[in-house]
Amino acid sequence: MNTAELLELDRRHLWHPFTQMSLWGAEDPVLVIDRAEGFHLVDTDGNRYLDGVSSLWCNVHGHRVPELDDAARAQLNRVAHSTLLGLSQTEAILLAKELVDVAPRGLTRVFFSDAGATAVEVALKMAAQYQVQVGRPEKRRFLALAEAYHGDTVGALSLGYSDWFHRAFAHLKFDVVTAPAPHAYRDPRRLPPEEFAADAAERVSRLIATHADTLAAVVMEPLVQGAAGMLVHPPGYLAAVARACRAHEVLLVCDEVATGFGRTGTMFACEQEGVVPDILCAAKGLSGGYLPVAATLTTERVFGAFLGAFHEGKTFFHGHTFTGNALGCAVSRASLRLLRERVLPALPARVQHLHRLLEPLRALRHVGDLRQRGLMVGMELVRDRATREPFPMADRVGHRVCMAARRHGVILRPLGNVVVLMPAPGMPEALLDTLVTAAHAAIVAITEAA
Ligand code: PLP
Repeated sequence: MNTAELLELDRRHLWHPFTQMSLWGAEDPVLVIDRAEGFHLVDTDGNRYLDGVSSLWCNVHGHRVPELDDAARAQLNRVAHSTLLGLSQTEAILLAKELVDVAPRGLTRVFFSDAGATAVEVALKMAAQYQVQVGRPEKRRFLALAEAYHGDTVGALSLGYSDWFHRAFAHLKFDVVTAPAPHAYRDPRRLPPEEFAADAAERVSRLIATHADTLAAVVMEPLVQGAAGMLVHPPGYLAAVARACRAHEVLLVCDEVATGFGRTGTMFACEQEGVVPDILCAAKGLSGGYLPVAATLTTERVFGAFLGAFHEGKTFFHGHTFTGNALGCAVSRASLRLLRERVLPALPARVQHLHRLLEPLRALRHVGDLRQRGLMVGMELVRDRATREPFPMADRVGHRVCMAARRHGVILRPLGNVVVLMPAPGMPEALLDTLVTAAHAAIVAITEAA
């Protein structure tokens, strides 16, 4: 079937996520990805594009990785899927053990699901039920950061707030305590970095203390709020939240769906501030970005609160059909092996290399703030650097930059006026050069035109 025929069927039958379908294909040409080679995606007309956002932040080692492909094929010769309800299964057992081995010390129990949002839903229900079962039923609310994004299921979206995305669901959301996002660039006080860091830590700690009596858990993305625009938190912020949580018997849930598996320069972001959360959510890169595998990890302390005689009703009544999918677990095991042996040792040099490549972009006239943590990068484009005046949203500057990058053979996806670079942790340095060169050219072409 040729591209035109496929596009006709796409228009007739597909409903794309986060997409105004009345404009789909009308404004910008639609690429139909047909295959991949390493870090490149190839469309139905044979054009190659560097995958600059890791296929929505999940790809780790590139595409068609021999070790991952072999693991999938070998598993297909055994079993693709069987349930964890009432049965166990080899690959799920081994992946649970191997995840515990690489997770922050103390996270010893693994509950599998199949998406970032489900990993977060599991965490919310686990935290809520935990507090009831340890005799603190009044601790039933959650604290989250402003502009947080934890997924699109109703529980996960209750934690975040985007007026634009969530207006239609406002009545479905539960009440959440919101702490300000520790985002220095948009703070009108323009404090020096150290003062801002101390103030942000102090504010969130005070909020946790104030609401401690009713808080089941604090839920946050550690180090970087991804979908909020790659907001890099000041040093010490995560550790301060962890301390306040400990002091007030509030659980700490770290959503590492975006930050996990090398993305911030270490296996998990929490490690960088020596924090072991009570609950950790992982998805996206867990399977190397191949298959929908997610996990919610917790401690023996939390797990222990769910033990009892059946009639006591302490069971965690939650599960999904594809919980612990064997094919996904087999590929995830292969991915973890490659991460440990090949990717993590090379990461510090790769992160430094990316930092050096980005230096010239900091000087561009319309790059207001350039944020990098590991391989997560957000470049906030502004109309006026001195006043930090944003480009009007209606101008869709971020989107236009990403479309321009395609002309240089690179796929990018913006977050409003923030151009995101999210190379796969396994991407070699020569391809990081290609990625940054294309982003640079595209930003200049769109923001400095006329
Ligand atoms: N949590 C975070 C921090 C995310 O960035 C995302 C997705 O971008 C999610 C949760 C939701 O993951 P999924 O799209 O797999 O449901």
